Amino acid sequence: MLDSYAREIDYLRVSVTDRCNLRCRYCMPEEGIESSTRASILTLEQIVRLIKVAAQVGIRKVRFTGGEPLVRKDITTLIAKVAEIPQINDIAITTNGVLFAEMAEDLKKAGLTRVNFSLDSFVPEKFNYITRLGDLNDVTRAITAAIKMGIAPVKINTVVMKGFNDDEILDFVQMAHEMPLHVRFIEFMPIGDLPFYQKERLFTMAEIKGIIESRYELLDDSTLRGNGPAKSCKIKGGRGTVGFISAMSDHFCAECNRIRMTVDGKLRGCLFAKEEISLKMALENGASDEKLAALFSKAIKGKPNRHHMNEGWEWIMSVRCTR
Ligand code: SAM
Repeated sequence: MLDSYAREIDYLRVSVTDRCNLRCRYCMPEEGIESSTRASILTLEQIVRLIKVAAQVGIRKVRFTGGEPLVRKDITTLIAKVAEIPQINDIAITTNGVLFAEMAEDLKKAGLTRVNFSLDSFVPEKFNYITRLGDLNDVTRAITAAIKMGIAPVKINTVVMKGFNDDEILDFVQMAHEMPLHVRFIEFMPIGDLPFYQKERLFTMAEIKGIIESRYELLDDSTLRGNGPAKSCKIKGGRGTVGFISAMSDHFCAECNRIRMTVDGKLRGCLFAKEEISLKMALENGASDEKLAALFSKAIKGKPNRHHMNEGWEWIMSVRCTR
């Protein structure tokens, strides 16, 4: 279905839990997080029903995220049920990878087609610092397991923070040069745990590209599947690719193909949008599939033209976005 700006919206990002087994400094405070109660989040049956309805209005790809999607106990069953929806041809997760290696076979059998791992450092101490609880070995085992599963390309999300991991940019590119991986460099954004965010930590895409091009030749690549607003490039002579998500210094909203559903069943046209439509309330009021489809259409039609993250610090601080 086309939104009001003639963008084809076929991608639904679903948060299945707000719980996480890590406490990444840019995302969550160490303590004091109140998880949603079971009653306030969507049940497995409700998520499946909503995705079936979303498929009727043109959604073809689904990504499960969180929190950490793999801590949700019924995630494998959820993927299997969504895989039965004929129109859905792509089921992905974004995960920190901690639980992935043990679950890989079951996830594949269930119908998982793509995976993005979050990884910000190859240095065990730095990895442990930024995640507060993580063990780098879990993520490297996860990446190996995903490559063995035949998922291609396995994607790595790397948030670049000045003074923390900008000195590792070329290490990440070398990994993508040698392995069939797609490394996506993400500009640090003022979302999540805002006290950790400082403007000074922003490392722009132009700076990241400059560093990469000091050693590698990048070639434009528009062929990569499911990339949405990320710009991607091949690395000359390399097996993998790199991508850039520059919400702060630029935006690719014109190519955005997604809407989002929060853990408590609210639809948002954009990560940074304040407007929401509550599907959970509609479900609880006995809404028919037609009514739910109308709410999806409303969210798609109401998707904003663009976000304004790059329009100044004051705007950002006034919005204090959450996912
Ligand atoms: N737990 C999963 C994971 O770690 O991938 C999924 C949720 S996590 C919030 C989704 C993505 O958001 C991760 O790749 C993470 O790096 C990114 N992210 C979180 N906070 C961010 C921030 N302040 N700036 C940029 N990216 C951020």
